[in-house]
Amino acid sequence: MTQNTPNSTVHILNPTGGSAAILVCEHASCFFPDKLNHLGLQPADRTSHAAWDPGALGVATQMAKRLDATLISSGVSRLVYDCNRPPSAPDAMRSRSELIEIPGNKNLSRQQKQDRTQRYYEPFRAAVAARVSAAQSPIIVTVHSFTPIYFGEPRAVEIGVLHDDDSRLADAMLQTAADHTSMNVQRNDPYGPDDGVTHTLREHALPAGHLNVMLEIRNDLIKNEFQQTAVGDMIAQWLVSATQLTEAKGLVLCVA
Ligand SMILES: [Zn+2]
Repeated sequence: MTQNTPNSTVHILNPTGGSAAILVCEHASCFFPDKLNHLGLQPADRTSHAAWDPGALGVATQMAKRLDATLISSGVSRLVYDCNRPPSAPDAMRSRSELIEIPGNKNLSRQQKQDRTQRYYEPFRAAVAARVSAAQSPIIVTVHSFTPIYFGEPRAVEIGVLHDDDSRLADAMLQTAADHTSMNVQRNDPYGPDDGVTHTLREHALPAGHLNVMLEIRNDLIKNEFQQTAVGDMIAQWLVSATQLTEAKGLVLCVA
């Protein structure tokens, strides 16, 4: 079941899911609202990894099914507003991404930035906050993908397990990784907290001490539905076994 807010800038799948896990996919979409004229981007750029995390929503959706978890995802491109950034971050509405210029984000006025923030970030932030506060002992898991080649350099890491100050769940996942996957799994790679990528964790998990982790999957490994389903199933089971190593071991994650 999907529940959308009136303007559909946030999508909520399985809102009453029984799992302790709450899944968040900030970069799920490459949708551009009509009024923004695609931010002046060429068609190829609008569907490139600059605009979204290809494959991440498919993986997260499968995890939600496996775990009976709620999944909250953004319904707009991260170039419209990057829901994994606070409004104060310079890259919340970036005007340049890796090799792409984003004409529609250049010289935004304070009012334009506020409008975008209120329209696209606030409903997302509020949806995650509401779901987290409705849960007894939520475990917050954010799901992302990254490009295999960045600024011309190939990346060897295949799954990044990222964390901020609270590494409990990330430590447990790294400890149990080899039981679940032969992929190259690394800590805080290809990004880490110093890159400003842990906003959702800092906003929704750290202040209340909720277990949390951010997962980054190399997007060439989750290109199609078959791969996304397989990786989603694998990570769901991996999360369950990792959680057993934490103080939350009594919590139900509901693997079907
Ligand atoms: Zn991402």
